[in-house]
Amino acid sequence: MPSREPYVVRRAEKQAGQKGSLFAGSIPSLPVSGGTDRPAPSKPASPASTFWRPIRSFALSQLTSLVRRATLRESDLAPKYEKVHNFKVHTFRGPHWCEYCANFMWGLIAQGVKCADCGLNVHKQCSKVVPNDCQPDLRHVKKVYSCDLTTLVKAHNAKRPMVVDMCIQEIEARGLQSEGLYRISGFSELIEDVKLAFDRDGEKADISSTAYEDLNIITGALKLYFRELPIPLITYDAYPRFIETGKIADAEKRLESLHEALKLLPPAHCETLRCLMAHLKRVTEYEKENLMSSENLGIVFGPTLMRAPGLDAMTALNDIRYQRLVVETLITNEDVLF
Ligand SMILES: [Zn+2]
Ligand SMILES: [Zn+2]
Repeated sequence: MPSREPYVVRRAEKQAGQKGSLFAGSIPSLPVSGGTDRPAPSKPASPASTFWRPIRSFALSQLTSLVRRATLRESDLAPKYEKVHNFKVHTFRGPHWCEYCANFMWGLIAQGVKCADCGLNVHKQCSKVVPNDCQPDLRHVKKVYSCDLTTLVKAHNAKRPMVVDMCIQEIEARGLQSEGLYRISGFSELIEDVKLAFDRDGEKADISSTAYEDLNIITGALKLYFRELPIPLITYDAYPRFIETGKIADAEKRLESLHEALKLLPPAHCETLRCLMAHLKRVTEYEKENLMSSENLGIVFGPTLMRAPGLDAMTALNDIRYQRLVVETLITNEDVLF
């Protein structure tokens, strides 16, 4: 039974790319329908195999799901971001075995948990010890906006969210001289429209000047992407350290501390931040035309990239100036910090 193989063995097999071989001994001549969800219809069964039919069809469904997972292995070019599973209590229909410990999942309802991003099924207890090797599947990750950043880039096998790459590319192609770039906001309905286009079409979203003539729509869509992240680009965990660096008066010490704080960010967040800061630095190179200094951009992006983790209103208000200062320092020293 495929689902009863020990987790480590199955994962190792999957990584080695031996998609079907691990079932060879137990269930011979299983038809595998390439690229489809449904198992291929079984051949007319002999009397001996009739008894095994339910288990056989269950095994088939498990097999296709494992094959699907195996084919989703990250390519060698994709970054190896670590990601925790997003487990939710789940009620399974029909018999299910834990994909971690290979034991039966007892009970009629809420027998275990299922990862909402990759579909891994395990016991609630086992979910605490499963390695952080979640490989999100586009069948589960449907949205682009308000999707966890690491989940999105892993699901799309990309280095950074496509919203960030595509918006930056579009903005730079149209020119960075536009006055009040990032400060002036476009029509919110059209920004919402860009968001829908990304959610619907992903990398194929059309954000060209034919679709959206006003450049402020694109800058607005990029800012909205960061605002809607469930975990901000500068994560809640790293937030206090970044604020601390903002309070350091000595410029050199502040840089040193900021360099250390950056290490607290998940790699996908850090890479996205690096790319954004490099872009904003290029924006400041046209300051004479666009009137956007690193200080102005700090004001715009500070609260967008950094959100206080459940602080009281007073502290949050106090933090705003440090948020600005941190982003300003990141832009100005982008080349040495990353
Ligand atoms: Zn997962
Ligand atoms: Zn288990």
